Amino acid sequence: MINAYAAMRLGAVLEPFQFTPKELGPMEVEIAVSHCGICRSDVHLIDNDWGVSTYPLVPGHEIVGVVSRVGAAVTLLSTGQRVGVGWLAGSCMNCEQCLDGNENLCRQGQPTCVGRHGGYASTVVVDARFAMAIPDALQSELAAPLLCAGITVFAPLKRQRLKEKARVGIIGLGGLGHLAVQFAKALGCHVTVISTSAHKQGDARALGADRFVDSAARGALSAETNSCDLILSTVPVSLAWPRYLNMLKPNGHLCIVGASPGDVRVPAFSLIDGQKSIGGSAVGSNREIAEMLGFAAEHKIAPQAERFALNDVNAAIARVRNNQARFRAVLAVDS
Ligand code: NAP
Ligand code: ZN
Repeated sequence: MINAYAAMRLGAVLEPFQFTPKELGPMEVEIAVSHCGICRSDVHLIDNDWGVSTYPLVPGHEIVGVVSRVGAAVTLLSTGQRVGVGWLAGSCMNCEQCLDGNENLCRQGQPTCVGRHGGYASTVVVDARFAMAIPDALQSELAAPLLCAGITVFAPLKRQRLKEKARVGIIGLGGLGHLAVQFAKALGCHVTVISTSAHKQGDARALGADRFVDSAARGALSAETNSCDLILSTVPVSLAWPRYLNMLKPNGHLCIVGASPGDVRVPAFSLIDGQKSIGGSAVGSNREIAEMLGFAAEHKIAPQAERFALNDVNAAIARVRNNQARFRAVLAVDS
């Protein structure tokens, strides 16, 4: 039996939940989970914000653990190996996107905790090709949040091919945002944190931010007109997007990774004038995850993590819900 914690219905607190593991497919591996980060996406799923949740729902997609069983056709992994799993537990591996190495864009991608049980559990089963080797330099507890939060901010920062000293704005200093500051600094950017929480200013600077903008202060955003090449939004809510487009320089890009279920409404002219663009980004490919893990190890990039035992999961989720976690809550599943 697998011991897990599940939301039994929409919005519910998690309860102990046991289930029998399915037989391993030929390309699957079972992982004994040691750590699992709590991503805000887990909260969106518990609340069915995106209309895709089924219950009982075992969240968890920032997983690190040790391979405990391998399917008959698995050649690249063996038992005892330390691996990590992020948002995706598998994809078709056969479509145009998968063949181009963009598994994260596969239309048949299988999220780790949508329609299957995720990492708030003693073990998890995934396609072996989605179990990523973890560099020795990264501690398991600190590697776990990199598997979703880390890759989600690293991939768009890399993709933009930013010039040295490019000016990057990071909206929201939470799990994703505090890693985005570190990655952007390590990539040579000038970083401005745009936050609703004035008391996070000290933390932002300690993480490497060059500037801090309190977005709740009157006139603070308009004072930043024409100041950013790229703005990355990591907030789980809709914002007054034209005010952020106004912060972009000509040809600037607003990349939305924060997964608010709301609309993005902007006047056409806020894009035309200055040739600005808005786009989204979804986690990252397996190649990008491997690159990000190596980059984090090399540049000593790590989340600030609050550690919780699995049976304390509801206290941890409450801190995430209330924007209190500094800056990622991580479950020590095997403690
Ligand atoms: P988080 O740790 O809760 O951080 C979100 C931050 O947003 C908060 O710390 C807060 O920063 C800011 N914020 C502003 N208004 C808020 C409000 N009304 N409620 C809550 N926070 C507010 O969340 P996370 O784990 O970083 O995830 C952020 C978003 O990214 C979520 O929507 C998640 O689903 C999404 N996500 C997307 C992808 C993808 O592939 N696109 C991957 C992972 C996560 P300040 O206090 O500084 O304002
Ligand atoms: Zn996530």
